Amino acid sequence: MEKILVVEDEVELNKMVSDFLTNAGYLVSSIYSGENFNSEVLNFKPDLIVLDLMLPHKDGYSLLRDLRADNVGVIIVSARNMENDKLLGFSLGSDDYLEKPFSLKELLARIKAILKRCKSPISCTQDFSTRLKINEAQATIAHNGSTQTLTYLQLEILKMLVSNPKNIFSRAQLASALSIAEERTIDAHIKNIRKKLCSVGLGDALITVRNIGYKYEETP
Ligand code: CA
Repeated sequence: MEKILVVEDEVELNKMVSDFLTNAGYLVSSIYSGENFNSEVLNFKPDLIVLDLMLPHKDGYSLLRDLRADNVGVIIVSARNMENDKLLGFSLGSDDYLEKPFSLKELLARIKAILKRCKSPISCTQDFSTRLKINEAQATIAHNGSTQTLTYLQLEILKMLVSNPKNIFSRAQLASALSIAEERTIDAHIKNIRKKLCSVGLGDALITVRNIGYKYEETP
């Protein structure tokens, strides 16, 4: 049974979401502040976290920043709906962002999409020639002895680019292939992927093709 941690300080809303997800067949744990977040993540080992941003003690951004669990999907649910909020959320590793008020059906659809993505990543056989080593199970990339951990979405985007070297993918293509609701957030993901590629010495390989999209091409 897949496990979902609901982090929401509005008691009624928390209960409504938790009951709904329980009825949808998930094992749900609910917390109402950021206080016990890390210990709950450690103990409950959720597959996915539904995370409110404005919380007592610690806001959702700090929680995301401190989140050390691998292989956990995160969907932010917040009344804060500015572009910057979303981009910050994505840069901290969240997989999706749902604005309040939202429909429970929509939440469930997004949750299913993330869990599906987490479970069955696009298969990545390393039959293409690349110096970058991708470890799907650990969600890491490595090159020249340096390793970086990626979020699911970062990994999926990168895999798509790397397994089709020199092919240019538009934002729309990447978004639709990976069921990402908002095309504009691709740029933020790319920026984060590029940072991690830089850390392993392959920052130049992720190329922005002006007005078209992105491609992966290692320089010899
Ligand atoms: Ca709140």
